[in-house]
Amino acid sequence: VIYLDYNATTPVDPQVLQAMLPAFTEHFGNASSRTHAYGWAAAALVDQARTTLAKLLGANPEELVFTSGATEANNLAIKGLARSSRKRHIVTTAIEHPAVLEACDSLQREGFTVTRVPVGKSGVVDPEAVVQALTDDTLLVSVMLVNNEIGTIQPVPEVARLCHQRGVLVHCDATQAPGKLEVNVQKLGVDLLSLSAHKFYGPKGVGLLYVRRQKPPLRLEPLLHGGGQEGGLRSGTLNVPGIVGMAKALELSVANLEEESKRQAALRDRLREKLLEAFPRLLENGDASQKVPNTLNVSFVGLDGGALVASLPRLAVSPASACATAKPKPSHVLLALGRTPAEANSALRFSLGRPTTEEEVEEAAAMVAEAVRKLTRG
Ligand code: PLP
Repeated sequence: VIYLDYNATTPVDPQVLQAMLPAFTEHFGNASSRTHAYGWAAAALVDQARTTLAKLLGANPEELVFTSGATEANNLAIKGLARSSRKRHIVTTAIEHPAVLEACDSLQREGFTVTRVPVGKSGVVDPEAVVQALTDDTLLVSVMLVNNEIGTIQPVPEVARLCHQRGVLVHCDATQAPGKLEVNVQKLGVDLLSLSAHKFYGPKGVGLLYVRRQKPPLRLEPLLHGGGQEGGLRSGTLNVPGIVGMAKALELSVANLEEESKRQAALRDRLREKLLEAFPRLLENGDASQKVPNTLNVSFVGLDGGALVASLPRLAVSPASACATAKPKPSHVLLALGRTPAEANSALRFSLGRPTTEEEVEEAAAMVAEAVRKLTRG
Protein backbone atom coordinates (compact mmCIF):
# COMPACT_ATOMS: atom_id res chain seq x y z
CA VAL A 1 0.00 0.00 0.00
CA ILE A 2 1.34 3.41 -0.97
CA TYR A 3 0.97 5.93 1.82
CA LEU A 4 0.16 9.47 0.67
CA ASP A 5 -1.57 10.70 3.82
CA TYR A 6 1.30 12.40 5.66
CA ASN A 7 -0.94 15.30 6.71
CA ALA A 8 -2.96 12.81 8.77
CA THR A 9 0.15 11.46 10.48
CA THR A 10 3.74 10.45 9.81
CA PRO A 11 5.85 7.45 10.84
CA VAL A 12 8.31 8.01 13.68
CA ASP A 13 11.75 8.63 12.16
CA PRO A 14 14.24 5.90 13.20
CA GLN A 15 16.55 8.58 14.65
CA VAL A 16 13.65 9.89 16.73
CA LEU A 17 12.91 6.40 18.02
CA GLN A 18 16.58 5.91 18.94
CA ALA A 19 16.57 9.17 20.87
CA MET A 20 13.43 8.16 22.74
CA LEU A 21 14.41 4.63 23.80
CA PRO A 22 16.55 5.50 26.85
CA ALA A 23 13.67 7.57 28.22
CA PHE A 24 11.48 4.45 28.29
CA THR A 25 14.04 2.24 29.97
CA GLU A 26 17.01 3.42 32.05
CA HIS A 27 15.75 6.99 32.41
CA PHE A 28 12.17 6.08 33.28
CA GLY A 29 11.95 8.43 36.27
CA ASN A 30 9.22 10.95 36.91
CA ALA A 31 10.55 14.35 35.88
CA SER A 32 8.76 15.84 38.89
CA SER A 33 10.62 13.61 41.39
CA ARG A 34 13.08 16.10 42.87
CA THR A 35 14.68 13.90 45.54
CA HIS A 36 16.56 11.20 43.62
CA ALA A 37 18.73 10.56 40.59
CA TYR A 38 15.95 8.90 38.55
CA GLY A 39 13.85 12.05 38.72
CA TRP A 40 16.86 14.28 38.05
CA ALA A 41 17.82 12.28 34.96
CA ALA A 42 14.29 12.50 33.54
CA ALA A 43 14.10 16.22 34.34
CA ALA A 44 17.44 16.75 32.60
CA LEU A 45 16.12 15.06 29.44
CA VAL A 46 13.03 17.28 29.52
CA ASP A 47 15.15 20.40 30.08
CA GLN A 48 17.38 19.50 27.17
CA ALA A 49 14.42 18.86 24.86
CA ARG A 50 12.77 22.09 25.97
CA THR A 51 15.94 24.06 25.20
CA THR A 52 16.28 22.43 21.77
CA LEU A 53 12.63 23.04 20.87
CA ALA A 54 12.75 26.64 22.10
CA LYS A 55 15.86 27.39 20.08
CA LEU A 56 14.37 25.89 16.90
CA LEU A 57 11.14 27.86 17.37
CA GLY A 58 12.75 31.17 18.32
CA ALA A 59 11.23 30.96 21.81
CA ASN A 60 12.55 30.85 25.38
CA PRO A 61 12.43 27.47 27.13
CA GLU A 62 10.05 28.83 29.82
CA GLU A 63 7.58 29.77 27.11
CA LEU A 64 6.81 26.14 26.14
CA VAL A 65 4.04 24.11 27.78
CA PHE A 66 4.05 20.40 26.92
CA THR A 67 0.64 18.91 26.10
CA SER A 68 -0.83 15.72 24.64
CA GLY A 69 -0.92 17.25 21.15
CA ALA A 70 -2.30 20.14 19.18
CA THR A 71 -5.92 19.46 20.09
CA GLU A 72 -5.07 20.07 23.74
CA ALA A 73 -2.76 22.98 22.92
CA ASN A 74 -5.48 24.68 20.88
CA ASN A 75 -8.07 24.11 23.59
CA LEU A 76 -5.71 25.42 26.28
CA ALA A 77 -4.88 28.51 24.24
CA ILE A 78 -8.43 29.41 23.28
CA LYS A 79 -10.50 28.29 26.27
CA GLY A 80 -7.70 29.06 28.71
CA LEU A 81 -7.37 32.63 27.53
CA ALA A 82 -11.11 33.23 27.12
CA ARG A 83 -11.96 31.95 30.59
CA SER A 84 -9.46 34.25 32.25
CA SER A 85 -10.36 37.32 30.17
CA ARG A 86 -12.96 39.99 30.83
CA LYS A 87 -13.53 40.30 27.10
CA ARG A 88 -16.04 38.05 25.37
CA HIS A 89 -15.35 37.93 21.62
CA ILE A 90 -13.10 35.59 19.61
CA VAL A 91 -12.19 35.80 15.93
CA THR A 92 -11.08 32.80 13.89
CA THR A 93 -11.38 31.62 10.28
CA ALA A 94 -13.86 29.35 8.53
CA ILE A 95 -11.11 26.87 7.55
CA GLU A 96 -9.56 26.04 10.94
CA HIS A 97 -9.19 22.48 12.19
CA PRO A 98 -12.05 21.19 14.37
CA ALA A 99 -9.70 21.44 17.38
CA VAL A 100 -10.05 25.23 17.01
CA LEU A 101 -13.59 25.49 15.65
CA GLU A 102 -15.13 23.13 18.20
CA ALA A 103 -13.25 24.81 21.06
CA CYS A 104 -14.78 28.10 19.87
CA ASP A 105 -18.22 26.48 19.62
CA SER A 106 -17.94 25.30 23.21
CA LEU A 107 -17.07 28.83 24.33
CA GLN A 108 -20.09 30.10 22.43
CA ARG A 109 -22.21 27.80 24.57
CA GLU A 110 -20.58 29.46 27.60
CA GLY A 111 -21.77 32.85 26.36
CA PHE A 112 -18.81 34.08 24.28
CA THR A 113 -19.36 35.35 20.76
CA VAL A 114 -17.30 33.98 17.87
CA THR A 115 -16.70 35.40 14.39
CA ARG A 116 -15.53 32.92 11.76
CA VAL A 117 -13.96 35.02 9.01
CA PRO A 118 -14.77 33.58 5.56
CA VAL A 119 -12.06 32.85 3.04
CA GLY A 120 -12.40 33.15 -0.72
CA LYS A 121 -11.74 30.59 -3.40
CA SER A 122 -8.00 30.92 -2.77
CA GLY A 123 -8.26 29.25 0.64
CA VAL A 124 -6.24 32.09 2.15
CA VAL A 125 -7.72 34.49 4.66
CA ASP A 126 -7.47 38.23 4.00
CA PRO A 127 -5.80 39.99 6.95
CA GLU A 128 -8.02 43.02 6.36
CA ALA A 129 -11.11 40.84 6.74
CA VAL A 130 -9.74 39.68 10.10
CA VAL A 131 -9.24 43.29 11.17
CA GLN A 132 -12.79 44.15 10.08
CA ALA A 133 -14.08 41.47 12.43
CA LEU A 134 -12.34 42.92 15.51
CA THR A 135 -14.37 44.76 18.15
CA ASP A 136 -13.42 46.43 21.44
CA ASP A 137 -14.49 43.18 23.08
CA THR A 138 -12.17 40.88 21.03
CA LEU A 139 -9.82 38.90 23.29
CA LEU A 140 -8.15 36.65 20.72
CA VAL A 141 -7.66 35.97 17.02
CA SER A 142 -6.83 32.35 16.11
CA VAL A 143 -5.47 31.71 12.61
CA MET A 144 -3.75 28.54 11.43
CA LEU A 145 -0.41 28.68 9.61
CA VAL A 146 -1.00 25.85 7.11
CA ASN A 147 -4.38 24.37 6.31
CA ASN A 148 -4.41 20.61 6.86
CA GLU A 149 -6.82 19.83 4.01
CA ILE A 150 -5.63 22.01 1.16
CA GLY A 151 -2.16 23.09 2.29
CA THR A 152 -2.65 26.83 1.90
CA ILE A 153 -0.34 29.10 3.89
CA GLN A 154 -2.13 31.79 5.89
CA PRO A 155 -0.68 35.32 6.24
CA VAL A 156 -0.07 34.92 9.97
CA PRO A 157 2.69 37.58 10.33
CA GLU A 158 0.45 40.22 8.76
CA VAL A 159 -2.57 39.16 10.84
CA ALA A 160 -0.44 39.34 14.00
CA ARG A 161 0.95 42.76 13.13
CA LEU A 162 -2.49 44.25 12.45
CA CYS A 163 -4.09 42.66 15.51
CA HIS A 164 -1.28 43.81 17.81
CA GLN A 165 -1.74 47.38 16.56
CA ARG A 166 -5.24 47.05 17.99
CA GLY A 167 -4.13 45.35 21.20
CA VAL A 168 -5.56 41.94 20.34
CA LEU A 169 -3.68 38.70 21.09
CA VAL A 170 -3.02 36.13 18.35
CA HIS A 171 -2.94 32.34 18.50
CA CYS A 172 -1.62 30.21 15.65
CA ASP A 173 -2.34 26.53 15.08
CA ALA A 174 0.93 25.68 13.33
CA THR A 175 0.38 21.92 13.47
CA GLN A 176 0.80 21.32 9.74
CA ALA A 177 3.81 23.59 9.27
CA PRO A 178 6.98 21.87 10.58
CA GLY A 179 8.98 20.29 7.79
CA LYS A 180 6.98 22.27 5.21
CA LEU A 181 7.56 25.86 6.31
CA GLU A 182 9.74 27.65 8.83
CA VAL A 183 8.07 27.97 12.24
CA ASN A 184 9.58 30.83 14.23
CA VAL A 185 7.41 32.54 16.83
CA GLN A 186 9.37 35.80 16.54
CA LYS A 187 9.00 36.01 12.78
CA LEU A 188 5.35 35.00 12.97
CA GLY A 189 4.84 37.52 15.76
CA VAL A 190 2.23 35.41 17.54
CA ASP A 191 1.47 35.20 21.26
CA LEU A 192 0.42 31.56 21.34
CA LEU A 193 1.30 28.68 18.98
CA SER A 194 0.34 24.99 18.88
CA LEU A 195 2.27 21.97 17.56
CA SER A 196 1.79 18.18 17.53
CA ALA A 197 4.84 15.89 17.22
CA HIS A 198 3.27 13.13 15.10
CA LYS A 199 2.80 15.51 12.16
CA PHE A 200 6.58 15.82 11.78
CA TYR A 201 7.91 12.28 12.28
CA GLY A 202 7.66 12.39 16.07
CA PRO A 203 5.48 10.23 18.30
CA LYS A 204 1.71 10.54 18.73
CA GLY A 205 0.22 11.92 21.93
CA VAL A 206 2.63 14.78 22.54
CA GLY A 207 2.66 18.41 21.50
CA LEU A 208 3.22 21.86 22.87
CA LEU A 209 1.78 25.29 23.34
CA TYR A 210 4.07 28.29 23.08
CA VAL A 211 2.92 31.06 25.44
CA ARG A 212 4.73 34.37 24.95
CA ARG A 213 6.33 35.67 28.14
CA GLN A 214 5.28 39.28 28.62
CA LYS A 215 4.42 41.83 31.27
CA PRO A 216 1.85 41.54 32.68
CA PRO A 217 1.94 37.78 31.99
CA LEU A 218 -0.69 36.20 29.74
CA ARG A 219 -3.20 34.57 32.01
CA LEU A 220 -4.52 31.15 30.96
CA GLU A 221 -7.03 29.12 32.94
CA PRO A 222 -5.67 25.53 32.91
CA LEU A 223 -7.85 22.77 31.44
CA LEU A 224 -6.34 20.14 33.76
CA HIS A 225 -5.83 20.56 37.50
CA GLY A 226 -3.51 18.39 39.55
CA GLY A 227 0.17 18.30 40.41
CA GLY A 228 0.88 21.72 38.94
CA GLN A 229 3.40 20.66 36.28
CA GLU A 230 4.31 23.09 33.47
CA GLY A 231 3.97 26.14 35.68
CA GLY A 232 0.49 25.03 36.73
CA LEU A 233 -0.76 25.33 33.15
CA ARG A 234 -0.80 21.62 32.44
CA SER A 235 -0.88 19.18 35.32
CA GLY A 236 0.05 15.55 34.75
CA THR A 237 3.26 13.50 34.71
CA LEU A 238 5.39 14.63 31.81
CA ASN A 239 5.61 12.31 28.78
CA VAL A 240 9.41 12.21 28.86
CA PRO A 241 9.97 9.88 25.86
CA GLY A 242 7.44 11.85 23.83
CA ILE A 243 9.02 15.19 24.66
CA VAL A 244 12.51 13.90 23.84
CA GLY A 245 11.18 12.49 20.56
CA MET A 246 9.42 15.73 19.64
CA ALA A 247 12.66 17.69 20.07
CA LYS A 248 14.62 15.27 17.88
CA ALA A 249 11.82 15.27 15.31
CA LEU A 250 11.74 19.05 15.04
CA GLU A 251 15.52 19.14 14.75
CA LEU A 252 15.39 16.74 11.78
CA SER A 253 12.47 18.57 10.16
CA VAL A 254 14.33 21.87 10.30
CA ALA A 255 17.51 20.26 8.95
CA ASN A 256 15.63 18.66 6.04
CA LEU A 257 13.29 21.57 5.28
CA GLU A 258 14.98 23.13 2.29
CA GLU A 259 15.91 19.98 0.44
CA GLU A 260 12.64 18.19 1.16
CA SER A 261 10.56 21.21 0.14
CA LYS A 262 12.13 21.21 -3.30
CA ARG A 263 11.95 17.46 -3.68
CA GLN A 264 8.35 17.13 -2.53
CA ALA A 265 7.17 20.12 -4.58
CA ALA A 266 8.53 18.47 -7.72
CA LEU A 267 6.83 15.17 -6.86
CA ARG A 268 3.56 16.93 -6.01
CA ASP A 269 3.65 18.82 -9.32
CA ARG A 270 4.27 15.58 -11.16
CA LEU A 271 1.30 13.99 -9.39
CA ARG A 272 -0.94 16.92 -10.34
CA GLU A 273 0.15 16.63 -13.97
CA LYS A 274 -0.56 12.90 -14.12
CA LEU A 275 -3.96 13.27 -12.43
CA LEU A 276 -4.94 16.02 -14.86
CA GLU A 277 -4.01 13.75 -17.76
CA ALA A 278 -6.21 11.02 -16.32
CA PHE A 279 -9.10 13.34 -15.45
CA PRO A 280 -9.15 16.62 -17.38
CA ARG A 281 -12.07 18.02 -15.30
CA LEU A 282 -9.89 17.90 -12.19
CA LEU A 283 -10.38 20.97 -9.94
CA GLU A 284 -7.58 21.95 -7.61
CA ASN A 285 -8.83 23.22 -4.27
CA GLY A 286 -7.04 26.32 -2.98
CA ASP A 287 -4.58 28.62 -4.71
CA ALA A 288 -1.72 26.43 -5.96
CA SER A 289 0.75 29.31 -5.64
CA GLN A 290 0.12 29.74 -1.89
CA LYS A 291 0.61 26.18 -0.71
CA VAL A 292 3.14 24.09 1.16
CA PRO A 293 5.05 21.68 -1.12
CA ASN A 294 3.55 18.39 0.01
CA THR A 295 -0.21 18.81 -0.31
CA LEU A 296 -2.51 18.33 -3.30
CA ASN A 297 -6.28 18.52 -2.84
CA VAL A 298 -8.32 17.95 -5.97
CA SER A 299 -11.99 17.43 -6.80
CA PHE A 300 -12.81 14.71 -9.31
CA VAL A 301 -15.93 16.54 -10.39
CA GLY A 302 -18.81 14.18 -11.07
CA LEU A 303 -17.32 11.30 -9.06
CA ASP A 304 -17.81 10.40 -5.41
CA GLY A 305 -14.62 10.76 -3.36
CA GLY A 306 -15.70 7.95 -1.01
CA ALA A 307 -16.28 5.57 -3.94
CA LEU A 308 -12.97 6.60 -5.46
CA VAL A 309 -11.08 5.90 -2.22
CA ALA A 310 -12.91 2.58 -1.89
CA SER A 311 -11.71 1.59 -5.34
CA LEU A 312 -8.11 2.37 -4.40
CA PRO A 313 -7.36 -0.35 -1.82
CA ARG A 314 -3.60 -0.06 -2.40
CA LEU A 315 -3.45 3.69 -1.92
CA ALA A 316 -3.72 5.42 1.46
CA VAL A 317 -5.21 8.86 0.81
CA SER A 318 -7.99 10.86 2.45
CA PRO A 319 -11.32 11.95 1.09
CA ALA A 320 -11.20 15.59 2.33
CA SER A 321 -9.71 15.34 5.84
CA ALA A 322 -8.93 12.24 7.88
CA CYS A 323 -9.74 14.11 11.05
CA ALA A 324 -13.27 14.68 9.82
CA THR A 325 -14.07 11.25 8.41
CA ALA A 326 -15.79 10.12 11.61
CA LYS A 327 -18.50 12.57 10.57
CA PRO A 328 -19.14 11.97 6.86
CA LYS A 329 -20.28 15.36 5.61
CA PRO A 330 -18.78 17.68 3.00
CA SER A 331 -15.55 19.28 4.17
CA HIS A 332 -16.19 22.65 5.85
CA VAL A 333 -12.92 23.85 4.30
CA LEU A 334 -13.98 23.07 0.72
CA LEU A 335 -17.45 24.55 1.30
CA ALA A 336 -15.75 27.68 2.65
CA LEU A 337 -13.88 27.98 -0.66
CA GLY A 338 -17.23 28.06 -2.43
CA ARG A 339 -17.20 24.46 -3.64
CA THR A 340 -20.63 22.83 -3.95
CA PRO A 341 -21.32 19.85 -1.64
CA ALA A 342 -20.94 17.54 -4.66
CA GLU A 343 -17.60 19.09 -5.61
CA ALA A 344 -16.45 18.86 -1.99
CA ASN A 345 -17.50 15.22 -1.77
CA SER A 346 -15.54 14.42 -4.91
CA ALA A 347 -12.26 15.63 -3.40
CA LEU A 348 -9.21 13.63 -2.42
CA ARG A 349 -6.26 14.88 -0.42
CA PHE A 350 -2.84 13.57 -1.40
CA SER A 351 -0.13 14.51 1.07
CA LEU A 352 3.51 13.55 0.47
CA GLY A 353 6.24 13.00 3.02
CA ARG A 354 9.97 12.40 3.49
CA PRO A 355 9.71 8.69 2.57
CA THR A 356 7.73 9.40 -0.63
CA THR A 357 9.56 8.31 -3.80
CA GLU A 358 9.13 9.17 -7.46
CA GLU A 359 8.12 5.55 -8.14
CA GLU A 360 5.37 5.78 -5.53
CA VAL A 361 4.00 8.94 -7.09
CA GLU A 362 4.00 7.38 -10.57
CA GLU A 363 2.33 4.23 -9.30
CA ALA A 364 -0.25 6.15 -7.26
CA ALA A 365 -1.14 8.27 -10.28
CA ALA A 366 -1.54 5.13 -12.39
CA MET A 367 -3.83 3.57 -9.77
CA VAL A 368 -6.00 6.69 -9.67
CA ALA A 369 -6.13 6.82 -13.47
CA GLU A 370 -7.30 3.21 -13.57
CA ALA A 371 -9.92 3.74 -10.82
CA VAL A 372 -11.21 6.87 -12.53
CA ARG A 373 -11.51 4.98 -15.82
CA LYS A 374 -13.55 2.23 -14.15
CA LEU A 375 -15.82 4.65 -12.28
CA THR A 376 -16.52 6.84 -15.30
CA ARG A 377 -17.17 3.83 -17.50
CA GLY A 378 -19.53 2.22 -14.96
N1 PLP B 1 -4.62 21.28 13.97
C1 PLP B 1 -4.36 20.88 12.71
C2 PLP B 1 -4.19 21.91 11.65
C3 PLP B 1 -4.25 19.52 12.42
O1 PLP B 1 -4.00 19.13 11.17
C4 PLP B 1 -4.41 18.57 13.47
C5 PLP B 1 -4.33 17.13 13.19
O2 PLP B 1 -5.13 16.55 12.51
C6 PLP B 1 -4.68 19.04 14.76
C7 PLP B 1 -4.76 20.40 14.97
C8 PLP B 1 -4.88 18.11 15.91
O3 PLP B 1 -3.70 17.43 16.24
P1 PLP B 1 -3.72 16.23 17.27
O4 PLP B 1 -4.78 15.27 16.77
O5 PLP B 1 -2.37 15.66 17.20
O6 PLP B 1 -4.09 16.77 18.60
